[in-house]
Amino acid sequence: MRADRGTGRVAVITGASSGIGEATARALHAAGHRVALLARRGDRIHALADELGSGAVAIEADVTDRDSLIAAAERVRQELGPIDILVNNAGVMLLAPFGPERSEEHRRMVETNLIGAMTATEVFLEQFRDGGGDIVNVSSVAGRIAPADFAVYAATKWGMNGWSESLRLELQPDIRVIVIEPGAVATELTEHITHADSKRKAQEATANTHIAPEDIAEVIAFAVSRPQHVALNEILVRPTAQAL
Ligand code: NDP
Repeated sequence: MRADRGTGRVAVITGASSGIGEATARALHAAGHRVALLARRGDRIHALADELGSGAVAIEADVTDRDSLIAAAERVRQELGPIDILVNNAGVMLLAPFGPERSEEHRRMVETNLIGAMTATEVFLEQFRDGGGDIVNVSSVAGRIAPADFAVYAATKWGMNGWSESLRLELQPDIRVIVIEPGAVATELTEHITHADSKRKAQEATANTHIAPEDIAEVIAFAVSRPQHVALNEILVRPTAQAL
């Protein structure tokens, strides 16, 4: 078992083109790690990689497309070598009352938030340096509580929490599994909601009470910097004034 959890590690971040993923990429790069920035919007991740400079690589990838993750993993292997940290952050939150008219959105949330994280993990698992490292799964406060309109989104995050706990036991002690559960964070997440009333409510709630993506990124950077024998397995981070 390795004790070194210092700088100079290689981190793969899914959903690095905006919000929490972008902030996490910046924080890990600032902490001295090399970063692979994965997302579908190539313009965003290439601009970020250019800005970060040495040690940052942009790789277009869709977490719902296993072949694109396999191709991304091969590029990471060639350009950065073995990995130490995988941040499963890519996600969509398409809030709406549950019903058949949104079955495509249900599928998209499950395939992105839950199966996307699982696929990225099984694809990158063999690339961990000496079989050790950190898997950071970005879940949600909605992995603990499930308000109305959150049914499928909450199911993906409850699913992520259950999957993470089993994975923690299977992969210990060499790989730490760290679940981050943000509350309201000011990002683009609510912009994609198509149900007008759910979108309005979500945007009003976030406008009134939120933290910044950098607040979550700092927690992730802290968690992965702990000595190997210390695991912060589940971290709930809400704005102090948030109700639910
Ligand atoms: P953003 O919308 O800013 O970021 C979402 C990221 O996910 C984008 O980089 C997007 O990149 C990426 N993404 C979406 N679909 C795919 C896909 N199929 N393949 C690859 N990447 C994809 O929102 P946040 O930063 O807020 O969200 C990040 C995570 O944090 C999500 O898992 C979300 O559920 C979670 N979270 C957010 C909270 C909040 O209040 N903001 C609260 C709790 C949890 P691109 O479109 O370029 O592919």
